[in-house]
Amino acid sequence: MKNIKTIIEPFKIKVVEPINLTTRERREELLDAAGYNPFLIDAEFITFDFLTDSGTGAMSAAQWGAMMVGDESYAGSRSFRRFESVIQDITGFKHVIPAHQGRAAESILFSITVDETKWVPNNCHFDTTRANIEFRKGHALDLVIEEGKNPALDHPFKGNIDLAKLEAFIKEHGAQNIPMGYLTVTNNTGGGQPVSMANIRGTGKILHKHGIPFFLDACRFSENAYFIKIREKGYENRTIKEIAQEMFSYADGATVSLKKDGFGNIGGYLALNDDEWAMQARNMLILREGFPTYGGLAGRDLEALAQGLIETLDENYLQYRIGSVAYLARGLNEMGIPTIQPAGGHAVYIDAKEFLPHIEPLQYPGQVLCAEMYLEGGIRAVEIGSVMFGKDPNTGEEKPAAMELVRMAMPRRVYTQSHIDYVLEAMRGLVERKDKMRGLKITWQAPFLRHFSARFAPAESLRRQ
Ligand SMILES: *Cc1c(COP(=O)(O)O)cnc(C)c1O
Repeated sequence: MKNIKTIIEPFKIKVVEPINLTTRERREELLDAAGYNPFLIDAEFITFDFLTDSGTGAMSAAQWGAMMVGDESYAGSRSFRRFESVIQDITGFKHVIPAHQGRAAESILFSITVDETKWVPNNCHFDTTRANIEFRKGHALDLVIEEGKNPALDHPFKGNIDLAKLEAFIKEHGAQNIPMGYLTVTNNTGGGQPVSMANIRGTGKILHKHGIPFFLDACRFSENAYFIKIREKGYENRTIKEIAQEMFSYADGATVSLKKDGFGNIGGYLALNDDEWAMQARNMLILREGFPTYGGLAGRDLEALAQGLIETLDENYLQYRIGSVAYLARGLNEMGIPTIQPAGGHAVYIDAKEFLPHIEPLQYPGQVLCAEMYLEGGIRAVEIGSVMFGKDPNTGEEKPAAMELVRMAMPRRVYTQSHIDYVLEAMRGLVERKDKMRGLKITWQAPFLRHFSARFAPAESLRRQ
């Protein structure tokens, strides 16, 4: 098989879902009605949806089959025991506490551990992790390595935490004020970049030396394990499961959204070793999510998630997954569309500032590109730039964000290579007419999280012609 280069989808298709094809004219009407914000276009009019990889994956025949044998008993269901044993097998953690999604697990953990005196370090906190810590009036700090902040720089583990900064952080704030240290694998906020095993081990060593528990935000643990296998010396002959087990072996607990690598449309968990924290977390769970053996999920969900966690460790799947994302990034780069290097595990991030240098940051080049991608090919992506971050929440002042990115997140097992080829052809159309693209201005915005609902209109050029 050495002469075969195509990365095939390692599955056959048993159930299909039609994709809606729209005309360019119809898309113009829809985009206009949505005020140039693809968030406001109904999904039935989207041909390729790269808004998020969260909860958008395809379940397997085995997962759908498992749903039929879900045990819906309120307490002590067989489906919970299966869920618990699959997670214990991979993570080695003593207590497994189900939750309806990742942020619910975070909220429960931080409600018992964080107050205004507490500091929590991470490579990069994901939005919901940061928000849940800050909601408790705690302080969430990002200590990713400098290389991780440079979009054009190639580095195998751009998600690594800076270990020297972590040591200094502990010295500055005091171990007694740090309820836990975190690593997010892969680092979603930093572009889906992986963390090396050496860095995970090193983080655990430093935290434990000071008596601080170590948690993983492990939503994309199998993608991270695959990157370790192909990029870190000494792991090339280990299975994904063995690598994942070693990653978790250095930690004392994890919060996880199973809408990512768990192949779930909903679900999450908190797992940990500490008996006292587990008891407190279960008490809180009963108040917020449900009894500790279902935690806001149906028995059939627990079955599907347990099966999904087994399937996510399949190396052929991961090769196809990581390969597809890299294939999309390479295709874009070859036609002159710059992306964060190297491609992440779950998404490609286009550098819109670099691609559309004639559009001022405060005329939102990322949003312009999102609108044009929809017009050209019915493609939906999300702006991560000055629309998302450009308004100071205290003063209301407009300030350009550090980067103007467009994220194309890849749903799991949903699109084939020919879908990606179509997307690339559409993107080529954009390259040809990029100089004609014009900036946008905001005509309406919500007081916070404006990117979800803002409306736009073409702006006058800020530059004199
Ligand atoms: C998605 C995500 C979460 C939150 O999970 P939800 O299921 O969306 O609540 C937390 N951390 C990371 C890294 C994520 O990607």
